[in-house]
Amino acid sequence: MRLVVTGAAGFLGSHLTDRLLAEGHSVVGIDSLITGTRRNLAHLRAEPRFAFLERDVSEPIEIEGEIEGVFHLASPASPVDYLRFPIQTLKAGALGTRNALGLARASGARLLLASTSEVYGDPLVHPQPETYWGNVNPVGPRSVYDEAKRFAEAITMAYHREYGVDTRIVRIFNTYGPRMRPDDGRVVSNFVVQALRGEPLTVYGDGSQSRSFCYVSDLVEGIWRLFNADVHAPVNLGNPGEYTIRMLSDLVLAATDSASTVEVRPLPEDDPRMRSPDISLASERLDWTPRVPLEAGLKRTVEYFREVLPGTATE
Ligand code: UDP
Repeated sequence: MRLVVTGAAGFLGSHLTDRLLAEGHSVVGIDSLITGTRRNLAHLRAEPRFAFLERDVSEPIEIEGEIEGVFHLASPASPVDYLRFPIQTLKAGALGTRNALGLARASGARLLLASTSEVYGDPLVHPQPETYWGNVNPVGPRSVYDEAKRFAEAITMAYHREYGVDTRIVRIFNTYGPRMRPDDGRVVSNFVVQALRGEPLTVYGDGSQSRSFCYVSDLVEGIWRLFNADVHAPVNLGNPGEYTIRMLSDLVLAATDSASTVEVRPLPEDDPRMRSPDISLASERLDWTPRVPLEAGLKRTVEYFREVLPGTATE
């Protein structure tokens, strides 16, 4: 198949691109490079089945030739990034999704939308099943991401119902692994980079808030299975193993063998208190369950950051 990946130069987009190429398909990668980086695709420079277009998906997308699938991943995804690019985030989720759906409709292609656990906001139901409608502050600082993704889900369902576009929606929970940017601002990359540099780990608030961390290869496997399954309703993908941020800081200190201390910083506004996916639907419909335990995934992530950060490699 010839497939389009928007956000191909991002953390997740680049891993998905690798997987699609490994399955034998051709990939056209699109990225505006506001938060993605060419470095994530550098290993594909000589790959004849991969083409890269530097484009902003909030502008209309035209691609010549047949297309069988569109994976719409383009968006700033870390709270630090989407607060730095609030308008671009809204545009990527709203106009970008409209344009990606337009491309899929014109090509008769299947479209998979990368949505997020942030559609549940600061959840009042725990763990979160897909049937939970969420608790989102529509005007808070995080709303630029949350509401853009909620709109993205709504327009995807409307294109499916109104035009019969063959759509999939994945709600992605916190994912980590190699190729996260060192300055991306998310908790795993922050802690690993801080630990390797011997700087204090910045715990926001009292660190009792929880998250559930999925290793990137597990997530990509789930996305590929969802793309190939006949499920139009949103599907949660994430690792249900739940950790407080304090527990995560201890695991990162152990994985890096670091003597860093912990420094308490203010909790960001509207930071969700807890988050964990109910993955019954993915398990039933996709026969999917994450395989990589947090300790093993952290080990691989630490190895990656040792390679890319100057002065942190072990002798
Ligand atoms: N966090 C933290 N220190 C950091 C970065 C994040 O304590 O240096 C906390 C953050 O407040 C949140 C959790 O870690 O409670 C996960 O944050 P992240 O930015 O990774 O993603 P989120 O799940 O909030 O989208």
